[in-house]
Parts: sequence; C-alpha cells; structure tokens
Amino acid sequence: MVATLEINQVSKTFKNENESVHVLDHLNLTVNNGEFVTIIGPSGCGKSTLLKLIAGLDSDFDGTIMAGDLTVSGPSKDRGFIFQEHRLFPWLNVEKNIAGNLPLKKPDIRKRVDDLITLVKLKGFEKAYPRQLSGGMSQRVAIARALLRNPEVLLLDEPFGALDAFTRTHLQEALLEIWERNKTTMVLVTHDIDESIFLSKKVVVMDAKPGRIKAIVPIDLPYPRTRTSK
Ligand code: ADP
Ligand code: MG
Repeated sequence: MVATLEINQVSKTFKNENESVHVLDHLNLTVNNGEFVTIIGPSGCGKSTLLKLIAGLDSDFDGTIMAGDLTVSGPSKDRGFIFQEHRLFPWLNVEKNIAGNLPLKKPDIRKRVDDLITLVKLKGFEKAYPRQLSGGMSQRVAIARALLRNPEVLLLDEPFGALDAFTRTHLQEALLEIWERNKTTMVLVTHDIDESIFLSKKVVVMDAKPGRIKAIVPIDLPYPRTRTSK
C-alpha cells in the first residue's frame, strides 16, 4: 500500500457568528511514501489545522487531500495522530491505553501490545497508570497507541513540545528509530527548528495570515541520524 500524501489547493476558513478566519490559503504539498517531513512556522499560522485536515478530523475545507489512492474525508486507521499532550485515559493502565478497545485477551492483540511496549522501551510499566509516568513516558505510550493499527501515516502535533530538553532529545531519537524500522510516512509539526533539522528529510516552512507555505527546505543529511553528544 502506498501512503503518499497529496495536498492540493487546500484552503480553510473558520466561520464564526460574527467573523471568519481565513487560516490556510491554497496549500500544495506532497509527502512521499515513507518520507519524514516536518512543518514549522509561527504560532497561529495553521499548522495544527493542516494536520487535523490530513488526519480527517475536520473535513470542512476547500481543495483535496489524497492518501495513496484515497481521498481523505474522515478519520482512518491508516492515519495515527499524536497530540502535544498525550491524552491518555487516566483510569486505564499502560497496556490498556495502548490496546484501546481491542481485547488484550486475544493472543495476537496481546503480542502486538507487548511488541509495542518493547518498541517504546516501557517494559515493566505495563500495569502502571498515567499518573505514575513522567511526561516522556506518557508520550511513549501515546506513540505506541498510535502505532497499534499499523498506520501508514503518522501525524504528530508538537509531540515533544511540553517535555524538558533532555527527554525531548531521547524521544526524538526513539521516534527516528521507530520510523527507520517501520518506514511510516511521517508529518511532524514543531516550532523547534533544531528538531526539524534533526528529524526530517524535508522542512516545510509556513507563513502566517493566511497560512501559506513559504519554503520547502531539503535536509541533506543521511539516516540513521544521532546526536553528536551520544
Ligand atoms: P498553529 O498550530 O500553527 O499554532 P492553529 O492551526 O492552531 O495554528 O490555528 C490557526 C489559526 O486558526 C489561529 O488564528 C486560530 O486562532 C484559528 N483557529 C483554530 N481553530 C479554530 C476554531 N475552531 N475556530 C476559529 N478559529 C480557529
Ligand atoms: Mg498548533
């Protein structure tokens, strides 16, 4: 299955009672299958809005978004979403947060969840509750949860923005490892230029009012990438 994303002439206006906010203006962007792309831009330029449109969380827009051969018109298990705050269920332990509504009693689900827990390096924390986890660990759970249904595209909205610099560096490296293993198509929004350059093959720079793409900058560094401090 090919998961190339084609964003074609996408415009978005929020219409409220007394005003309408024109947020995205005729955006065009291609994200190739298996490519890691980051989007940066000033606060309010429409990064989250764009990501939600790609995810199918909001289908009220002009233009078209294609994922492979399919037109995006609603959420799909083929596209996983990771928010800035982890949004875990506080009353469910780690393994249940990852499994969601799939039954852990089924051996194939059990194995899938165990594999994901190993992948995000949370072995031993299966039964822990979100309140017992650090911010970085919670975000690891959120990543595992997003990977559960083997999405072809992973969409991440400032996933490490709320974490301290040390944890952030670790999770950036963890995410790259996961990506190199799965070759999922990645679109990650950040306002951290350093993060953009470290992670992606292509940096999409957005401009505000109304949101447009100002530049697409290729990052000519080979993978695998590691921090020099390692
Ligand atoms: P970013 O993620 O780049 O900071 P957003 O996509 O969150 O920006 O928001 C872009 C613009 O759209 C902002 O001006 C914001 O106020 C506006 N906006 C976002 N969501 C809504 C909404 N539901 N209703 C009205 N305006 C919105
Ligand atoms: Mg945002």
